[in-house]
Amino acid sequence: MRGLMMDMPLLIGNIVRHAERVYPQREVVSLLHDGRKHRQSYAETFARARRLSSALQQLGIEAGDRVATLAWNDHRHLECYYGISCLGAVCHTVNPRLFPEQIAYILDHAADRWLVTDTEFLPVLAGIAKELESLEGLILLAGAGEPSADFIRSLDYEELLAGGDPDFAWPEFDERTAAALCYTSGTTGHPKGVLYSHRSVILHSYAGISADGFGLSARDIILPVVPMFHVNAWGIPYAAPMAGAGLVLPGRHAGNPRALTELLNNEAVSITAGVPTVWQALVDYLDEEGLELPGLERLVVGGSAPSLALIQRLMARGIEVRPAWGMTETSPLGTVNTPARRDAARSDEELVRAGRPIFGIELRIVDDSGQELPWDGQAFGALQVRGPWVCARYYGSEDSAPADWFDTGDVATIDPSGSMQITDRTKDVIKSGGEWISSIELENIAMAHPAVQEAAVIGRPHPKWDERPLLVVVLRDGVEVSEQELLDFYQGKVAKWWIPDAVAFVDEIPHTATGKISKLKLKERLRD
Ligand code: AMP
Repeated sequence: MRGLMMDMPLLIGNIVRHAERVYPQREVVSLLHDGRKHRQSYAETFARARRLSSALQQLGIEAGDRVATLAWNDHRHLECYYGISCLGAVCHTVNPRLFPEQIAYILDHAADRWLVTDTEFLPVLAGIAKELESLEGLILLAGAGEPSADFIRSLDYEELLAGGDPDFAWPEFDERTAAALCYTSGTTGHPKGVLYSHRSVILHSYAGISADGFGLSARDIILPVVPMFHVNAWGIPYAAPMAGAGLVLPGRHAGNPRALTELLNNEAVSITAGVPTVWQALVDYLDEEGLELPGLERLVVGGSAPSLALIQRLMARGIEVRPAWGMTETSPLGTVNTPARRDAARSDEELVRAGRPIFGIELRIVDDSGQELPWDGQAFGALQVRGPWVCARYYGSEDSAPADWFDTGDVATIDPSGSMQITDRTKDVIKSGGEWISSIELENIAMAHPAVQEAAVIGRPHPKWDERPLLVVVLRDGVEVSEQELLDFYQGKVAKWWIPDAVAFVDEIPHTATGKISKLKLKERLRD
């Protein structure tokens, strides 16, 4: 017997209709490139998104066409998210921190028809213009840049909107229609495209706002530090209007602790989300300036493993810290670390875990032969996930069989309470004498040393043990510490054979375009 409930497609346009009716006056605050603040309501935001849709339709954009964005977090980028997807086209966010050749590869692979871009990226685009054959033209967001002679057409975003219809009615379509596209460079070889559907975005947004997700409500104001070109800013641009939360968008200033502190405090932000390096810089700045963040209640940290030291420094400021794990292929929310009980204080070991899977996500860890491993907090295994917002296959490989379980490329342990901890990327795990050593755990310990600004641990070839851990550190300004002192710091904290053999002191640890430590580059640099 079938249920007799209404069958309404789960479309991103539903979020708009909800926010337009219930939360029309909630604000979207953007810090513009020149440092000025821009304010507009959800009602204005979505009227502009409707204008964009109608203007794109006039340009000949049809359902399924890809329209790319190359932009920071601001109201215009938000309008693109909705204006492109609600038309039935695909909003393809491109990471401007990638190498120009990678940007060219991605735009070409996705066969984007138009590219909406902040004018500051025009020089990069000019260098690769000849390779962008599918592109019919550029839509310039900030309006200040010179139209590029290298492209056949370049239009001004605001002029385009002025000619659009603010009451444009979006079509209704199947909820499995593609909505957004994001390439990941986390895998080997060329970047791969993850193609989200309207259905997956809506279900992921419900999970995102749930109590043990971001716990987002109409009482919140949320500031996504995570860029809108990195897994849809973890879904916050959809989750905020769904929950009725206000949005604060830091533009190109997300990496500037002073600007961030000003926004968090003056815009009464209650929750924020970003990668560990951003929070590290922020707490250093707050310490130096003697500043506090009195209104900030929750902070979500993910994208790479936060150290215990960082979590404790944030908690000492009265902020609830929620470590989270996910990836481009999981939309990204997979697990979040929130307390599972009201009463008990959590141990250090519990605080740093990546947390429990949010409903909708199933996890398992398997050994080399694919056998499932126990959830005992000890067994290391390859982490696999499945769920309605997990990638079944990459864009362009529609003919391949969809995956039953997605192989994350991460190595993890899961404890009896269902809390997962990432110990490594599969390719970064250190194999010493046939046993695995977690580089993340060793990094975490080094980060607790007061002299250490940043730490990375990599495997170094060893004639007897295959590989041995090498600790690479950047010291805090003006601080000195010996190699032996750092190695002694591990005594009693891990098994003796886990303790690194040596320390390399460096000025800088290389990072990828998404802010993770690039162990590949580090290994190349330190080969000798
Ligand atoms: P991306 O697709 O760029 O978001 O990268 C996803 C990868 O980031 C994951 O597969 C993990 O290796 C890493 N990652 C994300 N969150 C965490 C976390 N909380 N702890 C450790 N690694 C993480």
